[in-house]
Amino acid sequence: MSGRVGVMGGTFDPIHHGHLVAASEVAYSFNLDRVIFVPTGQPWQKDQTIVSCAEDRYAMTVLATEFDARFEVSRVDIEREGPTYAVDTLTDLTNQLSAEFNGAPELYFITGADALAQILTWRDHERVVELANLVGVTRPGHLLDNPGLADGALTLLEIPAMAISSSDIRHRVRTGHPIAYLVPQAVADYIDERGLYQVEDATE
Ligand code: ATP
Ligand code: MG
Repeated sequence: MSGRVGVMGGTFDPIHHGHLVAASEVAYSFNLDRVIFVPTGQPWQKDQTIVSCAEDRYAMTVLATEFDARFEVSRVDIEREGPTYAVDTLTDLTNQLSAEFNGAPELYFITGADALAQILTWRDHERVVELANLVGVTRPGHLLDNPGLADGALTLLEIPAMAISSSDIRHRVRTGHPIAYLVPQAVADYIDERGLYQVEDATE
């Protein structure tokens, strides 16, 4: 293993095929050995919203990724107290992976166009770009653009358009519409068994 590792942070409430395609495309384009999915702890930018508990979001992320040898799931953000900041995610993963590789890993932090547009509001974003290469990926309905980062800190990548969002999936579940093929079947089954997304949330 070369230590080239993708990092895909998200609320994953629930994880869907848009997330999985983004991770797969970035892994291919940047020749990554693996991509680590990192479900957030208490999501600081979503505090107006009812977010499913971390263990449900973690379980769905594991179910969605377990048959792809390139994909892993980390609990670093779930186990850290307080709101999740990318700078902490990347610091913790750098420390963990440095021990594993006996040297610093090369991290590729994956963000969709909507998340990338917010990056200048992130805590310590200067440090974020020191810890990882940023990869911004296209997302239907959002313009993919450099929000003002230094040249070289960011690569923009066009990926197949997946007009899927977790908000839309939650809305579909609550209103009895199908989610088949938008999320892996194991995730759909988990949502069903646990009775998730029956209550309306502010973002639907
Ligand atoms: P919500 O609707 O609850 O905000 P979401 O679908 O945006 O959910 P998140 O967990 O918020 O999913 O997103 C995690 C990361 O994945 C973000 O960087 C986001 O931009 C990216 N992403 C999510 N869906 C897509 C998609 N369909 N195509 C490309 N990137 C995506
Ligand atoms: Mg989102």
